[in-house]
Amino acid sequence: MILAFVEHDSGVADELSLESLTMARELAAAEGTSLCAVVFSDEGAALADELGRYGVEELHRVTHDRLDGYAPQAWGESVSQLVSELGAAAVTAPETDRGHEVLANVGAALDAPMAASCIDIDVSDGGEAYELRRHRWGGSLIEHARLEGETKLVSAAEREYPVEEAASTTEPAVSEFTPSLDDSHLRVRVERVETTDEEGIPLGEARVVVGGGRGVGGPEDYDELEELADLLGGTVGASRAAINEGWRPHDDQIGLTGAKISPDIYIACGISGAVQHMVGCKGADTILAINTDSEAAIIQKADYAVIGDLHEVVPELSDAIREAT
Ligand SMILES: Cc1cc2nc3c(=O)[nH]c(=O)nc-3n(C[C@H](O)[C@H](O)[C@H](O)COP(=O)(O)OP(=O)(O)OC[C@H]3O[C@@H](n4cnc5c(N)ncnc54)[C@H](O)[C@@H]3O)c2cc1C
Repeated sequence: MILAFVEHDSGVADELSLESLTMARELAAAEGTSLCAVVFSDEGAALADELGRYGVEELHRVTHDRLDGYAPQAWGESVSQLVSELGAAAVTAPETDRGHEVLANVGAALDAPMAASCIDIDVSDGGEAYELRRHRWGGSLIEHARLEGETKLVSAAEREYPVEEAASTTEPAVSEFTPSLDDSHLRVRVERVETTDEEGIPLGEARVVVGGGRGVGGPEDYDELEELADLLGGTVGASRAAINEGWRPHDDQIGLTGAKISPDIYIACGISGAVQHMVGCKGADTILAINTDSEAAIIQKADYAVIGDLHEVVPELSDAIREAT
């Protein structure tokens, strides 16, 4: 049996979980076994209807009076206890922070091997091993690996598996699972959620992104970038160096450990082009780099470059756009 960890928002499965269900269904077919799902939720019935369209035959809802929010170790422990009860051959998850955190905790609890960000998996040796390819370094490297173990833990790389309904809809049996948890599993847990009051277009959806790095020089200098982004109907992002300086909020970070963007144009200002930054903007159709250093790595990776001081180039660009419109 393949057990799919599914994330959801108020009873609606998220997109990446649906992608990972395609991988899970392929694994179940290759192993000739059933597909089950595990969710942390009170919204059992609504999820069961939805997951039935993706081939889930059994839905296990984890409930516990001390689980009132996300708690990585407790969630991992719960899934590992369920794996032991069901004898799952594999646990799948979406390529999300939670998906990876939960799988890592399952791995630690069961001493099971894990491969994150898989792009294809062949079941070999009658299910004893998975021969797989997976993304490393945000997709800039593809690794071939062999995973062996009684229970294998795998996440599906974002956008590598399509969201696809199963050939036939099932009516999953819904059952509750109450794990045995103690204080040691609840040392890390979400106590409250604070939303930012930032307005504007989310980075992942913006058609124009103006990014600023350490070369911008300070928090107030982002006004120039904000102005350009406004004129183009876009939004502002930043490199990790700028975030670490405290110049921009963490939500603005683009890169391996930040947002992945796919705009029509990315205007990167005062950003050197480190690989960890570039994996976040490789979905951009066009990259325009503005940098004083003609040898900066981003100049090689950009479609267009202006070698110059961004504090001169960006206001001039804004003036030119204002004049043209
Ligand atoms: C595990 C890991 C994960 C990471 N994840 C991320 C991530 O998600 N996102 C990310 O961005 N980084 C990430 N990093 C950090 C990354 O390696 C770089 O350190 C970072 O991207 C550098 O940011 P920067 O280009 O703004 O700064 P710098 O490398 O300092 O570059 C500044 C650039 O500005 C130019 N410049 C200076 N003044 C001007 C001016 N007046 N006009 C024009 N240009 C000017 C300089 O020539 C230089 O090219 C990660 C690192 C690690 C190890």
